[in-house]
Amino acid sequence: MEYEAIIGLEVHVQLLTKSKMFCGCDANYQDAPPNTHVCPVCLGLPGALPVINRKAVEYTIMTGLALNCEIARETKWDRKNYHYPDLPKGYQISQYDLPLTVNGYLTIEVDGQPKRIGIRRVHLEEDTGRLYHVNGQALVDYNRSGVPLIEIVSEPDIRSPEEARLYLQKLRTIVRYLGVSSGDMEAGALRVDANVSVRPVGQETFGTQVEVKNMNSFRSVKLALEYEIKRQIAILEAGGTVERETRGWIETEGRTASQRSKEEAHDYRYFPEPDLPPLDISPAWVEELRRALPEMPDQKAERYQREYGLTAYDAGLLVAERAVAEWYEEAVALGQQAKPAVAPKTIANWVTGEVFRLLREHNQEIGDLRLTPAALVELLGLVASGAITANVAKNVLREVAESGKSPAQIVDERGLRQISDETRLAEVVAQVLDQHPDEVQAYLNGREKVIKWLMGQVMRATRGQANPQVVMSLLKQHLEARRPSDS
Ligand SMILES: [Zn+2]
Repeated sequence: MEYEAIIGLEVHVQLLTKSKMFCGCDANYQDAPPNTHVCPVCLGLPGALPVINRKAVEYTIMTGLALNCEIARETKWDRKNYHYPDLPKGYQISQYDLPLTVNGYLTIEVDGQPKRIGIRRVHLEEDTGRLYHVNGQALVDYNRSGVPLIEIVSEPDIRSPEEARLYLQKLRTIVRYLGVSSGDMEAGALRVDANVSVRPVGQETFGTQVEVKNMNSFRSVKLALEYEIKRQIAILEAGGTVERETRGWIETEGRTASQRSKEEAHDYRYFPEPDLPPLDISPAWVEELRRALPEMPDQKAERYQREYGLTAYDAGLLVAERAVAEWYEEAVALGQQAKPAVAPKTIANWVTGEVFRLLREHNQEIGDLRLTPAALVELLGLVASGAITANVAKNVLREVAESGKSPAQIVDERGLRQISDETRLAEVVAQVLDQHPDEVQAYLNGREKVIKWLMGQVMRATRGQANPQVVMSLLKQHLEARRPSDS
């Protein structure tokens, strides 16, 4: 029997507000000593009262808008009750039945086709503290307690670990474009729980859902889902039934393990938060926020194809990180002012080719590069005017990225300008032909492809600086001159 996986993701995203969700404590706690960003409110001391962070509400609405959600006119806060040492109040202020935004979607690309993944809801809540286990002791740090957190719940529209990865990547791109979160999974700013079930292909009803937690990177999400899908299929094939439970991903062992039976909503005894008023969200405010949204990645990619003639694939690569898209657009603007102009498509080829290669090799972000958009455009201008060859330009680009010098300076210092002088190149061509009589003979016998190999030899002899058109025409002339006459 063939099975398919049904996956829904719950993603918690920390918001980049200055202060915490319900108090004035600094929300930027990452490098702070434990328990230094705390006050009576986020420590849950008796009598302390919460105050709503307006910026966090704004960021949630912006995220909802970017995810094509409806924004609620009225929303309220609820207490989610449970007992754990990282939650000093004994409840988390969250949103239960009236979340801020509902019914949206985001689009991923599957086998070259767009696929919509539904977004059930995006609600706002507060983060918990953190437990650390050191030498058999449990230590608790409340710096994270009360940091604003949004929970983005997808519909069960995801059908494979790969689709889950694409969904998460897109979601991270969107929150980074909005500037509402760092989306940094390693720093815990983006945390993923998955609901996974399997069913025989063709069956309408869903199988029993298992919740998988503790996945700390995109890679571990993929591995955990792959493992969990196989595990459930094996149980069904053996005639067993899948337990409804919460399982944790154990990275070091490459498996999921049972943690507890799955809680139901009633286990949390949700009830309206008595210390906070419901919120009226005015349509005018939502409109204002909608107008202020930045150009989002899908719109950007579409514009790159329309205005710059890029392929969908290249456009997708360039918009995946906002910083890369901004770098590229700065280069395009400079390229249009340059004389001769440098085309957006040429710039795109260099960014997705050579620049991305550099970033991968050095494991850097585009902002870390010493290569600026202006330097890339200057370099491509040197290629366009015929001053240097494209091959030389690749080496110069690496040197610019290392030294921060200007391309023209490197070209001049190292004497890299393209050689177009026919007399000089004719000497090199003659030498190369003299050194390779067998290849010359092969060419003359009709193996014309050999000319490309000979071209490579001339390029090597000139350190890539020879003008390829001039060399090609010289090679043809000189080879023909060596053809014995028929007499
Ligand atoms: Zn506080």
